[in-house]
Amino acid sequence: MISYLKAIVSFSEARAMIEPKRFVRDAKCYVPPMEGRRGKIRLDFNENTWGPSPKVMERLRTLSSEIISTYPEYQKAYDLFSEKFGIDRSRMLVTNGSDEAIRLTYNAYISPGDKVVIPVPTFAIFGLEAELFGANAVEVPYNKDLSFPEDEVIEASEGARMTIVVTPNNPTGTSASLDAIESIAQRSEVVFVDEAYHEFKGISALPLIEDYDNIIVTRTFSKAYGLAGLRVGLVFANEGIIDTLRKVVSPYSVNSIAIECAMAAMQDQGYMRSCVERIIQSRERLASGLRSLGFKVFDSDANFIICDLGKEHKRVVELLKGEKILIRDRSGDRLLENCIRLSAGTMEETEKLLEALQRNYGDRG
Ligand code: PMP
Repeated sequence: MISYLKAIVSFSEARAMIEPKRFVRDAKCYVPPMEGRRGKIRLDFNENTWGPSPKVMERLRTLSSEIISTYPEYQKAYDLFSEKFGIDRSRMLVTNGSDEAIRLTYNAYISPGDKVVIPVPTFAIFGLEAELFGANAVEVPYNKDLSFPEDEVIEASEGARMTIVVTPNNPTGTSASLDAIESIAQRSEVVFVDEAYHEFKGISALPLIEDYDNIIVTRTFSKAYGLAGLRVGLVFANEGIIDTLRKVVSPYSVNSIAIECAMAAMQDQGYMRSCVERIIQSRERLASGLRSLGFKVFDSDANFIICDLGKEHKRVVELLKGEKILIRDRSGDRLLENCIRLSAGTMEETEKLLEALQRNYGDRG
């Protein structure tokens, strides 16, 4: 009996010692603070707090049991997206959120030691994937006014395996020009253009995939379309890249319910556009309200803003937490000392946030 127990103990010790791959062992684990957010004012993850189109909820109510018991079918979704974007289906891939598109691209194209240019601060996943795949990540800081460091990125992209351009960028809210993207595409082997916040600005690198066979553009249903919980993203690129990504994607990575809802959301462009309009109004109200309280706010092309709170930073973060208003403390990011990121929610949510601050800082403005 004792020797049996000893065997179990030594087996579990042996299991604990199994080494993962080197780059996985050394990588950091990304654990976003996602728990316990429901029921609060969620201005921390750039979601659409209006929620998805009523057509999505209607579609959910009418799903058949067959949809759930069969493996997902994607043909209709590709037909619809192809029609809406005016792009052949051979040039697109549906993914499990745009996070998955990022993972697939690193998986298919990045080998240990490859140079990946990442303008920072930006969405953390780009740096984390670089660690996981052993890339040589070259960070290029944004300009002090948080504008895209065009010349520096173009220069750094010379001879790079991949250059990342997030436009509008999270968390700076600023965009890169199409000219800059073209210049980068003439220097870097691959250019990954993340357009998660595209709908709030309206300028896209998508037409460039006609002329450049090394540009990858991603979109998501998580922001303007309000489907963050369903995890649906889209990748656009030339056929060669899409065929390559298809080799590394798990065959049913987007589930049947998610694909049905993404179709319903895409069909209701009117709802999405009215959300975008209202979110932009709310963003401008948020920015002017914060400015009138004496805080510095950066201009944004997305559904969130960066606000520099100076020495009040810690106090404001605590105060909002106490009011059950969730915002993102970005003070750990390059260039963003004392800054928070606030998503533009509904006008009501924006007013609640401003009221909370007004009560404490009303005499500053
Ligand atoms: N790219 C950027 C710039 C983002 O900010 C986010 C989410 N915050 C994503 C990609 C991932 O979005 P999703 O996986 O939900 O499509």
